Amino acid sequence: MHNNLVISVNKNPQSKIDSVDFGNLNFGAIFSDHMFVCDYLEGQWRHPKIVPYQPLSVDPSSRVFHYGQAIFEGMKAFKDEQDQIFLFRPEDNFVRFNKSAKRLAMPEIPKEIFIEGLNALVRLEEQWVKSGMGLSLYLRPFMIATDTAISAAPSNNYKFIIITSPAGVYYPGEVRVLIAEKFSRAADGGVGSAKAAGNYAAQFYPTVLAQQRGFQQVIWTDSNSHQFVEEAGTMNVFFRIGDTLLTAPISDHILDGITRRSILQLAEDMGIPTEVRRISVEEIKAAARNGQLKEIFGAGTAAVINPICGFEHANEAFELKMIENSYATILKKKLTHIQHNCAEDPYQWRQLVP
Ligand SMILES: *Cc1c(COP(=O)(O)O)cnc(C)c1O
Repeated sequence: MHNNLVISVNKNPQSKIDSVDFGNLNFGAIFSDHMFVCDYLEGQWRHPKIVPYQPLSVDPSSRVFHYGQAIFEGMKAFKDEQDQIFLFRPEDNFVRFNKSAKRLAMPEIPKEIFIEGLNALVRLEEQWVKSGMGLSLYLRPFMIATDTAISAAPSNNYKFIIITSPAGVYYPGEVRVLIAEKFSRAADGGVGSAKAAGNYAAQFYPTVLAQQRGFQQVIWTDSNSHQFVEEAGTMNVFFRIGDTLLTAPISDHILDGITRRSILQLAEDMGIPTEVRRISVEEIKAAARNGQLKEIFGAGTAAVINPICGFEHANEAFELKMIENSYATILKKKLTHIQHNCAEDPYQWRQLVP
């Protein structure tokens, strides 16, 4: 690995930062002034560059439009009170990106392109990273198949791109979920453990149906029996029964979330009993009936931790009582403090952007 990657930079002559209301951001709606682009051509990654954020010119026959050969990552940059900028566990995103690439028959990207591309772009966009608890610059690396051919086969050419979007404090409101009885997010042997773009497209319809019934999200169950809980929307899901924090094990149909992994580590180190095992819908309902189900929350980069206040399954509805010192509150605080350099980081999860 050579660590003198040359990234050409073409600066945007006109920043739009002054037109952005940073106190009033909708998630993922505004993009910064630049993007990182690297092309995979003739078996090699070529021409890493930073250019003004702009539309792509891609042929309509590009394979990504026909066969959905597309993957992505989601991560955040944080600024502390001394204006230092940090990424959170970026190497984990890098490893997962290449895992997704492999599953979608796409070329793996060298670590230096992924990491140095992120660092260079975030450094250039440093004004877009605001300090303050809950504020961040959301980073979206992705890869698309660009071969101009509609025969159904993996592409030979790809584009790797990173775009960034300023993110404000996330206010989820009350979240009630429907536990899936018919639809699934992912199946055994499928692509559920990859961050494949198509996984999201496939979730939209069942999610819209649930929203029409007044729920904000779906808790996905296993595709074979629909008896075991897997994820909540596009987040991993945790349950607190008594004082024990439970989540489902990673498999080829559950995404290996970096927030999930961090929460498990923090919980264990705080002395919270954790169990990683299959959790049946019946167990959750029984615990809700006898008062032992204290909390449900989703975990993912965008919202960090998103508490769920109620759920329905087989026409039976359950509400959770608000509790003091919830695990969701304690763990979110701990994790966001580490992210923002407001707490010690014995795990070395923070990576300073040079
Ligand atoms: C991205 C994602 C998550 C959360 O992963 P993080 O690394 O914590 O952001 C969980 N589930 C699904 C399906 C995802 O795509």
